[in-house]
Amino acid sequence: MNTFQQLGLEDHLLQAIIDLGFETPSEVQQKAIPTLLLEENDLVALAQTGTGKTAAFGFPMLQKIDINSRTTQGLILSPTRELCLQITNELKLYGKYCKGLNVTAIYGGASITEQAKNLKRGAQIIVATPGRMKDMISRRLVDISKIDYAVLDEADEMLNMGFFEDIKAILSYTPQEKSTWLFSATMPKEVSIIAKKFMLSPIEITVGHKNTGSKNVSHEYYLVGSRDRYAALKRLADANPSIFSVIFCRTKRDTQKVAEKLIEDGYNAGALHGDLSQNQRDLVMKSFRNKQIQMLVATDVAARGIDVDDITHVINYQLPDEIETYTHRSGRTGRAGKSGVSMVIITKSEQRKIKAIEKIIQKSFVQKDVPDGIEICEVQLKALAHKIHDTEINHEIDPYLEEINLLLEDTSKEELIKKFFSVEFTRFFNYYKDTKNLNAPKGNDSSLEGKQDDQSARFFINIGKKDGYDWMSMKDFLRDALELKQYDVFKVDVKDSFSFFNTETVHMPKVLEFFTDFKQNGRYINVEITEKKERRGNRRFGKQKGERSRRKDEFRSESRRGRRKEKRNENTGRSPRRSPDFKSQGGGSSRPMRNRRK
Ligand code: ADP
Ligand code: MG
Repeated sequence: MNTFQQLGLEDHLLQAIIDLGFETPSEVQQKAIPTLLLEENDLVALAQTGTGKTAAFGFPMLQKIDINSRTTQGLILSPTRELCLQITNELKLYGKYCKGLNVTAIYGGASITEQAKNLKRGAQIIVATPGRMKDMISRRLVDISKIDYAVLDEADEMLNMGFFEDIKAILSYTPQEKSTWLFSATMPKEVSIIAKKFMLSPIEITVGHKNTGSKNVSHEYYLVGSRDRYAALKRLADANPSIFSVIFCRTKRDTQKVAEKLIEDGYNAGALHGDLSQNQRDLVMKSFRNKQIQMLVATDVAARGIDVDDITHVINYQLPDEIETYTHRSGRTGRAGKSGVSMVIITKSEQRKIKAIEKIIQKSFVQKDVPDGIEICEVQLKALAHKIHDTEINHEIDPYLEEINLLLEDTSKEELIKKFFSVEFTRFFNYYKDTKNLNAPKGNDSSLEGKQDDQSARFFINIGKKDGYDWMSMKDFLRDALELKQYDVFKVDVKDSFSFFNTETVHMPKVLEFFTDFKQNGRYINVEITEKKERRGNRRFGKQKGERSRRKDEFRSESRRGRRKEKRNENTGRSPRRSPDFKSQGGGSSRPMRNRRK
């Protein structure tokens, strides 16, 4: 088998590879690295996500550029800001022994002056999203007129996202005589057009289907209301008593919060994220490897190095921002020939992401119901029986047995078993006996779910009457753009050069995500969340009440009324001490999405 050494990489890069723990080059690396090192050629490489493409172009580029020069020599275009940051970080790791290397990320949604400042220090390699890159070129904040290498990473995705014109414009500022390396998971017509237009008889590499996910992993999703995520997580854990899992959250904060709650609720859980010290992380990983931690709650970045076999479940507490990350997540289970399950907890507004993921992993998801209390009790009861059956007897108890035997003299074996289980089990049973069904209703009407939790977010958007909108056309624009239903955008207030609108909180991530890098007529459209405080006050007593209650009336239905009643009972009712469900319903932690952006 090939080693990195045989590919022709220099010692300092090989040392970085050792530090990273890469042992053998992946197929795309084996094919691309020697070629790119030896020749000045254009290249088209087709390989699925997760096959190690970053290193396939990263190492040759690092070896070929002149570190002693501060001229920008390499430009990598990638579709999203997350990928852009990910590639930048990877390259920094690959080039950790390249003294004087400066890799700079250029992407929308962050300070342009800050990024310009970083460039001024002399970036040999720029990793950029097309929108921001074009912007910086037109402001003369960046010079790519002397680059030797241009990489189009995830070309199909970039074209999907409508970056063709931007890419064309950006490449027109680069010199003719450079090498262009295009990486893509698929080869739609648009990608071959790019290849034809911008490349000169490129070498072609195709890597067979790989890492579309392990064959041994099955994929399930659970549809719940936005406030029931945590309760659903607990039930999934309770329904799988011998679970050994990684639970993925999107942010460090959520990761910490979910782990803390789990620990508080009596689970063997731990958190793994970038805010912990290296020491803390090592400790957590050690406990996880020893299985003292059964549920490891982690961010994607922190979980990257996890190489633990035997993981039975991956739980996507929230879906990743980048759906391709899903492959990495689910790949944590089903290793070493074992089978594994990747579970996704979603709300209705995220359902379309499942379709997108299915395309990537080329496998179907099974929609499953969050187990109800009875099912969980049954599972737990059986698990207890097995545990007792398999337990080795501890002879330390022998001296006390005489007294105990005497006490239980008249109890039959059958009765004894029943009593024993009752002791162990009543606590669990009390937990679950009156809890509600967590599954979101399976209709088509996504508007209902949003209304249910009676929470909305108000947004500011920097377009208004000057841009030709009135409230109706604004509402239409937002609804179409965000693929929302008729009543999902409301309280639209169009001013001269800006506007306000509301959506239910569940749609908030979608709104923010959509407008991260969105342009209209060449201009960036920004959306921000406005203060919530005043609205909360108004909600009950203020001037907005009329509109609100009108809306409510439109949506009030029998089923919904039933649901609200049920909820009320739960909140005031006989709440058992350690109930998972009640916890997540009350208190200040019920709006995990809020302020996510900052
Ligand atoms: P792609 O761009 O094809 O989706 P990435 O370049 O993001 O894939 O790599 C996926 C993951 O695999 C990253 O975490 C990366 O660090 C890791 N990786 C890349 N090459 C190797 C290798 N040869 N051995 C082990 N891990 C690797
Ligand atoms: Mg990649």
